[in-house]
Amino acid sequence: MTKRTLLDRIKPKPPHAPGSEIAPEFWRTKSLAQMNEAEWEALCDGCGKCCVISLEDADTGELYRTDVACKLFDAAACGCSDYANRKSKAPDCVKLTPKNVPKLDWLPPTCAYRLVSEGRELYWWHYLISGDRESVHLANASARNKTRPEGRLKIPGLMKRIVQWPEPLDDPPAKGRGRRR
Ligand code: SF4
Ligand code: SF4
Repeated sequence: MTKRTLLDRIKPKPPHAPGSEIAPEFWRTKSLAQMNEAEWEALCDGCGKCCVISLEDADTGELYRTDVACKLFDAAACGCSDYANRKSKAPDCVKLTPKNVPKLDWLPPTCAYRLVSEGRELYWWHYLISGDRESVHLANASARNKTRPEGRLKIPGLMKRIVQWPEPLDDPPAKGRGRRR
């Protein structure tokens, strides 16, 4: 098995603010290549799953997801702890681009960039849909508090950490049940 690369963690900016460069419903009207920088950054749902290590079977190409995250991933904050210096500290980190998104099979199927690239709609939990950045966690669609750090683990150790990630909720939980992590 080979260790797959990790990718860029993008911090979204508030969408549709007065004077914003972010067009309303840009994710429905623009392709990835047509988005400006602000829109591109706003597309990330903050799930953090792209910072979790996957293993690929060299013979079959099958991907196995682990519960081990990049050493820079802050599990509680669900984000990169040193975004500005990630390239020097985590050389495997891959920056997403309109060109490489369709080729990165290790992106989670729920990734907003992948969805837009495939001409699909964002899920209900995306904050651009729900208006709430907590929705991705509420839907069980994020890596928040679900990973352990990479540490010194090599391939054999990573193979023992292969897990089945939970399926996100299909619909928002009924009101009154409280929020779940
Ligand atoms: S998987 Fe996609 S949507 Fe989720 S944090 Fe990574 S880039 Fe953002
Ligand atoms: S350096 Fe690691 S934690 Fe930071 S964005 Fe890249 S993969 Fe994610």
